[in-house]
Amino acid sequence: MRREAEKSTKAARRAQDPASPLTPHPSLAKHGKAMLAALAKLGIHREFDFVLHLPLRYDDETHLWPIGEAPHGEIVLVEGTIVDNVIKYRPKRQLVCTVEDASGVLVMRFLNFYPSQVKQLAPGERVRLFGEIRQGFFGAEMVHPKYRVVREDMPVADTLTPVYPTTAGLSQANLQRMVHEALAASDLSDTLPPGLLAPFKLPAFRECVSFLHHPPPAAERAALQNRSHRAWRRIKFDELLAQQLSMRIHYDRRKSVSAPPLPPRGQLTHTLLARLPFQLTRAQHHAIAEIRTDLALPHPMQRLLQGDVGSGKTIVAALAALQAIENGFQVAIMAPTEILGEQHFNKFSGWLTALGVSVVWLAGHLARKQKRETLAQVAAGDAQIAIGTHALFQDEVEFHNLGLAIVDEQHRFGVHQRLALRRKGTRSGSAAQPHQLMLSATPIPRTLAMTYYADLDVSVIAEMPPGRTPVATRLVSDARRDEVIKRVRDACVEGSQAYWVCPLIEDSEALQLQTALDTYQRLLATFPELRIGLVHGRLPAAEKAAVMQAFQNGEIQLLVATTVIEVGVDVPNATLMVVENAERMGLAQLHQLRGRVGRGAARSTCILLYQNPLSQLARERLKIIFETTDGFEIARHDLRLRGPGELLGARQSGVPMLRFADLDTDLDLLEAARNAAQRILPLHPAIAERHLQRWLGGKQHYLRV
Ligand code: ADP
Ligand code: MG
Repeated sequence: MRREAEKSTKAARRAQDPASPLTPHPSLAKHGKAMLAALAKLGIHREFDFVLHLPLRYDDETHLWPIGEAPHGEIVLVEGTIVDNVIKYRPKRQLVCTVEDASGVLVMRFLNFYPSQVKQLAPGERVRLFGEIRQGFFGAEMVHPKYRVVREDMPVADTLTPVYPTTAGLSQANLQRMVHEALAASDLSDTLPPGLLAPFKLPAFRECVSFLHHPPPAAERAALQNRSHRAWRRIKFDELLAQQLSMRIHYDRRKSVSAPPLPPRGQLTHTLLARLPFQLTRAQHHAIAEIRTDLALPHPMQRLLQGDVGSGKTIVAALAALQAIENGFQVAIMAPTEILGEQHFNKFSGWLTALGVSVVWLAGHLARKQKRETLAQVAAGDAQIAIGTHALFQDEVEFHNLGLAIVDEQHRFGVHQRLALRRKGTRSGSAAQPHQLMLSATPIPRTLAMTYYADLDVSVIAEMPPGRTPVATRLVSDARRDEVIKRVRDACVEGSQAYWVCPLIEDSEALQLQTALDTYQRLLATFPELRIGLVHGRLPAAEKAAVMQAFQNGEIQLLVATTVIEVGVDVPNATLMVVENAERMGLAQLHQLRGRVGRGAARSTCILLYQNPLSQLARERLKIIFETTDGFEIARHDLRLRGPGELLGARQSGVPMLRFADLDTDLDLLEAARNAAQRILPLHPAIAERHLQRWLGGKQHYLRV
């Protein structure tokens, strides 16, 4: 499922990739096809992109050392006359030139060289060499220095030499020249008024790019290198500002799109709340209040409901659904797996059928005829809630009047699957969009949320329902498997239920399936007295559903499962989970898996079996999961270990990625950029437009999540 989501995102990304332009930007028209391709690889699609192609590091070619005085072991610039030039064959074929000045002599050695170089480095020529002098067998020598033939009195560079990220087919010297030309030809005037920059003490744009491409020799090298220099900060601020502006614009644009207003009406909602076996938590009340207000507006809601695993997002979604239904509209619920879809169907039916609401489940295992009938019910508006995996939103499904689309575990879906849902419209042919509610248990640290969800509204359920005992986590070496087996038997005999999760096997579904089958057979042999079930991704949907139902009803005591049960599954009587080869799993995954237990009042345990030897990373992950149960804390560690791209999954393709700013170190700049974006947009749209043009060029269309 996840792989499918990724695939479709990748394909779509290719389709809209501006890196394969058929017609080059006019400012690059003078370049040939091969050069354009090389530039595109570097993200350079128009001349101005050279200005934003900033150096990785610098060489200091500003000081000319006398050969005899140049320090050894450091990169230095020297100049002298070639007195001798021979090709030697021992120990290896090589070109050896002797170079001298008034103070001393050194040998320059090339192991790879062209015949043209032999000619160029003829005795009598003056050369400038840039490299490291080492004490060789025959005296001072430089191996493969950067060199240049010079005329007398040629001035030495007065700025540091930039070294740019480059790619095959594009030499450093060529790239340096192109950047230099672009700097001279481009409009470097500021996009932002000085008043806006003053409070942040950020220098002018022109000054910054000139400085970063050609810093004077006295520049603070450390600040340049670690990108904390004021000039770097201005560039990062600009980049973050462009991102915030573009997200804000998308956010505001929603107000020009219409959606059916769905004001709270009450009757059904009151009945449901009165019948629930529990009271909503304060956090749940708060979240549903925010959603109620949004739904009443004539513009599409786009709200992300974040809450840790087990915090109770489903009931909030059900209450939102009721509000749409009370207004005579339909609701679509999209789940990432069949198991979860089925479970939602059971839950929603349990809560809502008694209220006269009709809920249908577009399961993968429906017979053709049954499927046709269900689709007809949806199209006629007889089905008020339609639940399905992303198949639900394929072209064949049409709604009578869709008012609200709910996406569970939204991080599991690609941008494009979510867009497909929105594009369905409230009914076919209508321009109005349904409201959208996304549920996510991936708790995003605040910094990331600010950057990546600036175009969404976010509600957070930051509290667990009462009466939960935190899950105890045990790390157990695979060598002590017998103790674990005894523990599983005891738990089941005492009336609890348990999960046994089989290892994740990267890239091989077949192998993972085999492991699950083997484990199942082994456990059957070990526990003849227990009722054991098996569930995995390859099981036909109807069987999968039957197994899950049996586990739910307590007919199965021990459920052997692949990671298909990772998300969403809710069986409160299950109090023990064993995860095999936990060292192979990521933090988010372990946290999600562990969230399958500890859902009732009884004390639950999660046993993480691991196999030695552990890699450094695996050891660190297991330590974190052992010490922490707080999803936000775990996500912060995950961010540190994996970086934002991985953590956010498919969403990144919908957001312009940051090239310069670093969310760990530049939090203050991010906040500044966010404030600036809020101030600029309503008052100075032209400034915003120009800034976006400079930073995103034609790439604005990327952002439309
Ligand atoms: P998640 O946020 O992970 O989707 P669920 O919505 O599946 O969590 O809820 C987890 C469990 O908590 C469910 O069994 C649900 O019925 C129960 N639950 C939800 N809200 C409350 C509450 N306020 N008090 C007690 N139990 C609750
Ligand atoms: Mg859930």
